[in-house]
Amino acid sequence: MARLAVCETFLSLQGEGLHAGLPCFFIRLSGCNLACSYCDTAYAREEAPKMEPLDSLVSAWRASQVPLVQVTGGEPLCQPAALELMDALLSAGAEVLLETNGTLPLEPVPEQIVKVVDWKTPGSGHPDSFLLSNLDLLGSGDQLKFVITSRADYEWSLSLVRSRSLAGRCHVLFSPAWGRLSPALLAQWILEDRAPVRFQLQLHKILWGDERLR
Ligand code: SF4
Repeated sequence: MARLAVCETFLSLQGEGLHAGLPCFFIRLSGCNLACSYCDTAYAREEAPKMEPLDSLVSAWRASQVPLVQVTGGEPLCQPAALELMDALLSAGAEVLLETNGTLPLEPVPEQIVKVVDWKTPGSGHPDSFLLSNLDLLGSGDQLKFVITSRADYEWSLSLVRSRSLAGRCHVLFSPAWGRLSPALLAQWILEDRAPVRFQLQLHKILWGDERLR
């Protein structure tokens, strides 16, 4: 039985993307291959993990009594056993979201998984980290997210969206970096440019601020 390095599990509302507002069980795996400037889960990289057997994570999701589960991090794909976990959750009947930073190959991720992929902007500190071959693995149900920290990030992201016709490939989300960019300003830029993107706010931040949910 595979074991995974786990930071925390908890039930909350999904705060982002097309599932925002739905009750969701979160499995936050430990470790990450980046260190973004705006990271709000540094504890997933820094704290000692608990080693949990895969089946106890599936049981914890079952006990939550909600259909939706998100495998997140840190960067979940740093652990090969995350693929086994997602397979097991699918087999158990869950609707599974994977939140990933886009730097590691998505090929082995089962097709039924909804992929929520962060394309790191310059403001993150990792503008060259995205694995371009992942683009071809995104389908119409998947989500590509840009966390925008500034006007420069916005222009960089919009240029990518347009030059690579990203909106024709999957859902494209622009999100203001919490505490760094005015949401109203980002909304205004999107409208002025008729940008083919979906504006989003982090619902959990509005409800609970920076409070850690566990
Ligand atoms: S990829 Fe996510 S978890 Fe990793 S450092 Fe960046 S924001 Fe934090």
